[in-house]
Amino acid sequence: MRRIAVLTSGGDSPGMNAAVRAVARAADAAGVGCVGVSDGYRGMIQGQIRPLDARDVSGIIQLGGTVLGTARSKKFYTEEGRAKAATNLRNAGVDSVVVIGGDGSMHGAELLSQEHGFNVVGVPGTIDNDLSGTDFTLGFDTAVNTALEAIDKIRDTAASHNRLFFIEVMGRNAGWIALYSGLSGGATAVLVPESDWDEDNIRRKVVESFALGKRFCIVVVAEGEREGGAFGVAQRICEATELDYRVSTLGHMQRGGAPTMRDRILGARLGDGAVTALLDGDNEVMIGERKLEIIRTPFQETWTTDDRDFGGLLALMDRLAR
Ligand code: ATP
Repeated sequence: MRRIAVLTSGGDSPGMNAAVRAVARAADAAGVGCVGVSDGYRGMIQGQIRPLDARDVSGIIQLGGTVLGTARSKKFYTEEGRAKAATNLRNAGVDSVVVIGGDGSMHGAELLSQEHGFNVVGVPGTIDNDLSGTDFTLGFDTAVNTALEAIDKIRDTAASHNRLFFIEVMGRNAGWIALYSGLSGGATAVLVPESDWDEDNIRRKVVESFALGKRFCIVVVAEGEREGGAFGVAQRICEATELDYRVSTLGHMQRGGAPTMRDRILGARLGDGAVTALLDGDNEVMIGERKLEIIRTPFQETWTTDDRDFGGLLALMDRLAR
């Protein structure tokens, strides 16, 4: 192996910097060169590639966002775009690539290997937790803790006013942030794409919980879940009732902030694991952590199968919301 290129791609997530640092330092420790690509695949196509040695990644482990920058690139969906990116990588002496990003970024990484012969390894960097092959993706823990802090604050005011709150959290097409923040935030219900909830049922649950003497009621709604988001859902559930409700959308604050200890350590382990996999000659695999063990999963499996127990946690939440 001559030189590794590392990039962050798709939505930024806290812990990406810890992973970039780990890749650069693990490469340095192995005597392999490392370069950083700015702004994801867009920067790769534009040739924004710079050396990244052990000193270049000093003082970034505690930073949110990504110091490399990230982007979504339409051109990378085209063969011409990917060919341009491959030429730039070759000109920079690169033969191996570490892509830190979500499932879209893994798809792009696979094509870079199949069409242009680079050895490519992925690190799951997304707050959405929507890749299998790892218990948690990088940034998920920080994002959930941010959502949880907001939910705790909202509960203070909800309890003071005897109010129902609908809180919309991020997660794209996945309900993981909603599930974890709802379960840890003492929500009455979480409305997620993974389950077949219906509005009558939720209305009944909310009314019952106030009748049981609760002074607050929190319903966490996953982003993009049904028409109108949390506002639409709240309106349909509360219409023709006397319920005093408010809606709060947490938005992009969930993406930012200093990574938690868990995300820093996950970033360190996954970044280091990516370099080890490349040194072993592995290709088209994503590095993950399952049951505290670092594992490698073929790209395809990370978006086609998921054996993590979402349903079990959802059922637990339901049992405890009384
Ligand atoms: P997040 O989960 O945070 O949204 P992501 O990696 O899934 O992250 P995407 O926007 O889906 O984010 O993908 C990032 C980039 O990867 C895209 O802008 C595009 O350049 C590239 N990409 C995604 N899917 C493909 C694909 N099927 N073929 C080629 N390139 C792709």
